[in-house]
Amino acid sequence: MFSTIAVVGAGTMGQGIAQLLVEAGLTVRLYDRSPEILSDAVDAVTRRLQRRAEGSTPPGAVAGALLAATSMSQLADADLAIEAVPERYDLKRAVFAELDRCLEPMAVLASNTSGLDIDALARSTARPQRVVGLHFFNPAPLMPLVEVVPAATTDQDVLDGVCAFAESLGKTPITVPNRPGFIVNRLLFAMIAEAVRIVDEGGTSARDVDRALCLGASHPIGPLALADFIGLDVALDILESLSSGLGPRYAPSSALRDLVAQGHLGRKTGRGFFSY
Ligand code: NAD
Repeated sequence: MFSTIAVVGAGTMGQGIAQLLVEAGLTVRLYDRSPEILSDAVDAVTRRLQRRAEGSTPPGAVAGALLAATSMSQLADADLAIEAVPERYDLKRAVFAELDRCLEPMAVLASNTSGLDIDALARSTARPQRVVGLHFFNPAPLMPLVEVVPAATTDQDVLDGVCAFAESLGKTPITVPNRPGFIVNRLLFAMIAEAVRIVDEGGTSARDVDRALCLGASHPIGPLALADFIGLDVALDILESLSSGLGPRYAPSSALRDLVAQGHLGRKTGRGFFSY
């Protein structure tokens, strides 16, 4: 099993995954290309870990270790890397190529992509048999599912290893086909795209769209509040990649583009479809 994990990208998902792994007693090397984001992320995760340790009965100690890496070369001793940079092929391919250069040949390289092609990521390395999709959900410490996505080239023992690893973290791994959006986001983003379109068409508010889904279909959170939670910039990237893979029903409409262009990215900036 894995003991030292590199987490690349210290945004929403990188932070959540790092927290989850440290709580499981593992050593995490967290890297972000922005030194400021990295430093803020280490502070934020450390605070959350301390709060959780103090809140447990009896109060516990933080089990693993969180170490900041200021360059990719400092990730060299990791036996698993989990990439959580923005949802863009060029960016993710470059990160995979660099991880391939920096980590030992037997290390496994995993992507937290929401639905990009794992084969393409595998091909940007010299170890395509040791590349896999490992899709955690937000917030990673709490959400039980991990979608595990084999590339066509992924070795069975790598697939078995990451499934066992996800289980050791208390998660339920489900192996899903390498198709755009996998299972969850293919379904979820069809709904989010339609919800934005309904608001865009006029005649109803974001609040009523969300209330309708919650009250009429027993959803715990409406699609627009969920988009705010995901981050509207992240949601826009995901819809663009899904619409190129699955067609125009996923095309992001202008209301979403406008909010992102104005810097209203959802909860993380205090405003999106709703104010926080
Ligand atoms: P985010 O924008 O919050 O964080 C991305 C981080 O990556 C930023 O801190 C950025 O500085 C950093 N980064 C950019 N380029 C980099 C590079 N070359 N090397 C190192 N760091 C780099 O994004 P996020 O919401 O954490 O999403 C990350 C990935 O996880 C995406 O693929 C997204 O689709 C997926 N995902 C997101 C959610 C969600 O709810 N936000 C849920 C599941 C999966």
